[in-house]
Amino acid sequence: MKRRAFCASALALASTGTSSLRVLAASSVSSEIPIIRGDGKQATLTASDVADLKGTLRGELLLPSQSGYDQARKVWNGAFDRRPALIARCVGAADVTQAVTFARAHNLLVAVRGGGHSLSGQSVCDGGLVIDLSPMKSVHVDPIAHVARIEPGVLLGDFDREAQFFGLVTPAGTVSHTGAAGLTLGGGYGRLSRRFGLACDNLIGADVITADGRYVRASEQENPDLLWGLRGGGGNFGVVTSFEYRLHPVAPMMYGGRMMFSPKDTPDVLRFFAKFAADTPDELYIDGALVVVPNMGRVMVFDVCYSGAVQQAERVLEPLRHFRKPIQDGLAPTTYVTLQASGDGGSAAGRGYYERSGFLRGIEPGLIDASLAIMDEPGAVGELVFWQHGGAASRVKPDATAVWHRDAARSLLVDADWDDPHDERARDTAMQWARATWHKLEPFTDGFYVNTMAGDDPHQRVRSTYGGNYPRLVKLKGQYDPTNLFRLNANVPPSSTG
Ligand SMILES: Cc1cc2nc3c(=O)[nH]c(=O)nc-3n(C[C@H](O)[C@H](O)[C@H](O)COP(=O)(O)OP(=O)(O)OC[C@H]3O[C@@H](n4cnc5c(N)ncnc54)[C@H](O)[C@@H]3O)c2cc1C
Repeated sequence: MKRRAFCASALALASTGTSSLRVLAASSVSSEIPIIRGDGKQATLTASDVADLKGTLRGELLLPSQSGYDQARKVWNGAFDRRPALIARCVGAADVTQAVTFARAHNLLVAVRGGGHSLSGQSVCDGGLVIDLSPMKSVHVDPIAHVARIEPGVLLGDFDREAQFFGLVTPAGTVSHTGAAGLTLGGGYGRLSRRFGLACDNLIGADVITADGRYVRASEQENPDLLWGLRGGGGNFGVVTSFEYRLHPVAPMMYGGRMMFSPKDTPDVLRFFAKFAADTPDELYIDGALVVVPNMGRVMVFDVCYSGAVQQAERVLEPLRHFRKPIQDGLAPTTYVTLQASGDGGSAAGRGYYERSGFLRGIEPGLIDASLAIMDEPGAVGELVFWQHGGAASRVKPDATAVWHRDAARSLLVDADWDDPHDERARDTAMQWARATWHKLEPFTDGFYVNTMAGDDPHQRVRSTYGGNYPRLVKLKGQYDPTNLFRLNANVPPSSTG
């Protein structure tokens, strides 16, 4: 059974002359290399331009004809089968600086890739340059200062494992193969965010290569405005080559796992859950999902993590556990690292994913009725997730970081996926279901989490979700990226262009 399979879009951004480019790109590494510029227009590079870039890099520069190219252009969401003109596999800040400088000089369309999990597929592009940071994987934990420094290709599982070795943690995500870089820059909700805030709230420093190829340090002491923007403003301001986080001590054992309730009990359990989850301690993370299980029907599934004392966990969860008898109860003492990997299988790389989402202030009766009705229809091919936020993440002031909607209690996720990303019929069925479902449920939401952006989310949505922070983000963008070199993201155009 799949679970919390974060999804993404097969659309958007792809309207950049893909098919003609594909023919040209496949034709060979001739003296003229077709590229797509930042403004979407086609142009060419010479072989000598490319050789110059290659000569400056310590990492590989991959072109379509080279071995390793097809592997390197793959991203988590199989719905995006894009063919960049160049992939710079950066191994350090010097490589990143060279790649950024080259992109700017040649006006290239640029995608920046950390862990490659962008739901909207924006870390790969057709015809442009991918600045691929995935080879940069070091994690350094200072167990005395409670600080970690990681490179931008680090996945959450690597980070958690190193920090947990010292009994420490930074809240970051719920699936261990997600990239820490993109997750942090967009905000970063994790199983421990109700206790310790978002990943971006724990970001205390960053090394950034800006659009003009400059190295800039962002911290509370140096360029604090930039740090503010990196805390939720996405990849708008430059390429981050190093992230520094505050760590928190946690007990070695936590309590959690999955619980499932029968189709018969699901409506009552969802209504009970709406009240139960509105008032839980910060130690408890619990998200609920309506999922269709073959030969069974629509069921309610919970993903639980309690990070306080085990006896306390059992007391806190007792009302939900005993309201109705679960048909599956996997709650038990376990490690944080185990819980963090528990959803990995349900969101395997390479399948097709599409997701729409929005913040909720609560789970109101109208939303419950509409959700149950949707999941009871015979054509329900996806799942609805009530993803928990709140706690410490909500106690940060809306203008303290770029993340504006601090009062969000949850996100509602409408997820659809399909096994074979090349199966157009399956894709259309999944996407149509998700869009129709979103159309019915969007009125219950207000704002959305930029890291769950779909490729076909309108720009206006990005603008409104940044709320009162938007003007400051535009100003910062004008300062650090006035030509919008970094545009493949939840884009905040500089005032001159948008
Ligand atoms: C299976 C799955 C589970 C998820 N679970 C959670 C979750 O629990 N909590 C949560 O908050 N989010 C979650 N997400 C959403 C996740 O935060 C985003 O998909 C995020 O973009 C992933 O980061 P990445 O580095 O892997 O992505 P990438 O695709 O590599 O990057 C995404 C974007 O981030 C920017 N970027 C990446 N690295 C850098 C860098 N070093 N410098 C500048 N810009 C950069 C670029 O604009 C890029 O387009 C999940 C996503 C998936 C697919």
